[in-house]
Amino acid sequence: MKDIIITLDGYSSCGKSTLAKQLANELNYVFIDSGAMYRAITLYFLRQHVNWKHEKEIHKALGEIGLDFQYNEVTGHSDMYLNDENVEALIRDMLVSEHVSEVAALKEVREFGVAQQQAMGKKKKIVMDGRDIGTTVFPNAELKIFVTADPSVRVERRFKELFAKNPAITIEEVKTNLEMRDYIDSNREFSPLRKAADAIELDNSNLTREEQLAIVLEWATEKIK
Ligand code: C5P
Repeated sequence: MKDIIITLDGYSSCGKSTLAKQLANELNYVFIDSGAMYRAITLYFLRQHVNWKHEKEIHKALGEIGLDFQYNEVTGHSDMYLNDENVEALIRDMLVSEHVSEVAALKEVREFGVAQQQAMGKKKKIVMDGRDIGTTVFPNAELKIFVTADPSVRVERRFKELFAKNPAITIEEVKTNLEMRDYIDSNREFSPLRKAADAIELDNSNLTREEQLAIVLEWATEKIK
């Protein structure tokens, strides 16, 4: 048995985190939601009114940020902590979603995020999902998966998820936000969202959660054995 790193990249709301979480559970690996880290940084910037057009302000703010994942006994998953505060629910807010791609495109923010993510992978046995995990964070990962799904399926899924928490949300709002994030994430200068040359593509538009898990488990088992 070999300890490996598994990366899952792809567009917004492809169900990457759900799949990564399930896969990590099955393999007894650690699951890391790298998007949660960029969301927590964005929450801090918004709360502190950081003007991210100014490099000095970004540096100062990043120096004040401590990110940490802590296991939640109730949900059985890890929650994102920002300076010892559980921000797991807050970072899913539409306000954060509206600004996260802009913040995540900043060079300083990327360096900050990537360094911490790489440190988390030192002992291997992790499943990390995001946008640049297979290309920039772990270019030598043993298994790279690029998740895709039909845009209308992605909007529908995300809408259902957000509507459950906020019935005032509209499908148009969700669609606009997904399109905007995908555009910024794919066109930014540093670590744009790309399928790594050696990544396997998984289109889950017509797959159930169980079906997609079975597929990736087979890929993972092949690499681990
Ligand atoms: O995965 P999630 O949708 O929560 O990610 C939120 C945002 O964080 C993405 O739209 C993207 O702008 C940014 N992100 C990133 N690199 C990653 C993970 C997320 O730039 N590895």
